[in-house]
Amino acid sequence: MFALSERRRTSQAVRLAPGVRVRGPIAYVPQRDHFFALDPAHEAVVRRLSGRTCRFEGHEDEVRTLAGLGICDTEPRTPRCAFFGRSVVGRMDAFPQVTEPLVVNCFATAHCPLRCTYCHADDLMTGYREQEDARWLERVLQVAGATPAMVGVVTGGEPLARIDRTARLVERLAATGKAVVLDTSGVGDFGRIVPLLLRHRVHVRISLDSADAAVNDALRPANRRFVPLGTSAAGYAQEAIRQAVRAGVPCSVQTVVTARTTSVVGLLALRDLLIELGVTTWVLHIVVPVGKAAGPRQASLLAPPNVQDVLDEVVRRTAAEALAIDIRLTGTHLAPNSTLLISARGELAVEDVARGGKKILALPRIGLRGAVLRHFRTHVDLEGHASRYLNGSLAAYDRAIGAGVTAPRS
Ligand code: SF4
Repeated sequence: MFALSERRRTSQAVRLAPGVRVRGPIAYVPQRDHFFALDPAHEAVVRRLSGRTCRFEGHEDEVRTLAGLGICDTEPRTPRCAFFGRSVVGRMDAFPQVTEPLVVNCFATAHCPLRCTYCHADDLMTGYREQEDARWLERVLQVAGATPAMVGVVTGGEPLARIDRTARLVERLAATGKAVVLDTSGVGDFGRIVPLLLRHRVHVRISLDSADAAVNDALRPANRRFVPLGTSAAGYAQEAIRQAVRAGVPCSVQTVVTARTTSVVGLLALRDLLIELGVTTWVLHIVVPVGKAAGPRQASLLAPPNVQDVLDEVVRRTAAEALAIDIRLTGTHLAPNSTLLISARGELAVEDVARGGKKILALPRIGLRGAVLRHFRTHVDLEGHASRYLNGSLAAYDRAIGAGVTAPRS
């Protein structure tokens, strides 16, 4: 009997899930907008799947885990499991070494209808907006296309503020083999961009900081130079989430945790709202003192010392209730110099921790790819880059964490 059931399990057909990118021991799942680090046993399974359907003998556990995370598909289907804050599949002693970027963040525009109190991109918007033109966009497209990242994030500024530029950037990133993510507040005509997102399998990340619209809108107020008084960022964000979920666009919500929102009760209320809206991935960043949040006037925004305990409690309660929502706690605050950016002018930018802003790096007209890689390896904290996108934790994914949870994913 045992032998028969084992045989049934190993006769499953297995293939890489649609859109999944793999680079050595790192896999990216676009449906979840999540990177996973694979130990040698799981990496070996994934390597065999490259471009074909396989049947495995003797790797049932690895296949089941990879399928539960959405890295591979099986026939018959293995249900996806929600997971909480884990990115390591199997066991690892250190994060994989990264020599090429996992993610590049590309400004579609420096314009934005909001003026968030903690905006980390402020220094790449002020002084850029008035001069933004078609030549700048061409340069952004060149640099973005030449950057060998697994994922290209279209950001800003607010991509919905300049939809034509956003469409060109999405198309270029997709054409150069990258998985594409759109970062948005939702403020703008989100419905207009849905067909583009579906066409290029774009994952959309929508920002919402609180279930209480007044709290959210105080942290993310409207910029009256661009939108009418009374525009609610929370209202737009929730409407964009509804439209994305309804249309089948892979969608997650990101929340910046500040002093104002460091509360178990408040965060659980937001979690419940997201579940009600049909969101299956929730990403929480602890506010970092860069950009606007680095200013002395915003010191009271910085999260209190117990913030990690609060977030752990939110994860613990969600796991105990076996709810169908992934929760990812980024290690952004622990790895400040870990991102690669392309400004709206097409410049390469990295965090400048000492100045609380960005360092702009020169790029040549030709030999772009090599120059981008040299800057990446010289100016970005490579260990921090891997750790940032792998949740800053070497804790292994454990099926017990998401036991019994079946997120309704395609
Ligand atoms: S929406 Fe983004 S870019 Fe605009 S102000 Fe807020 S954090 Fe800054």
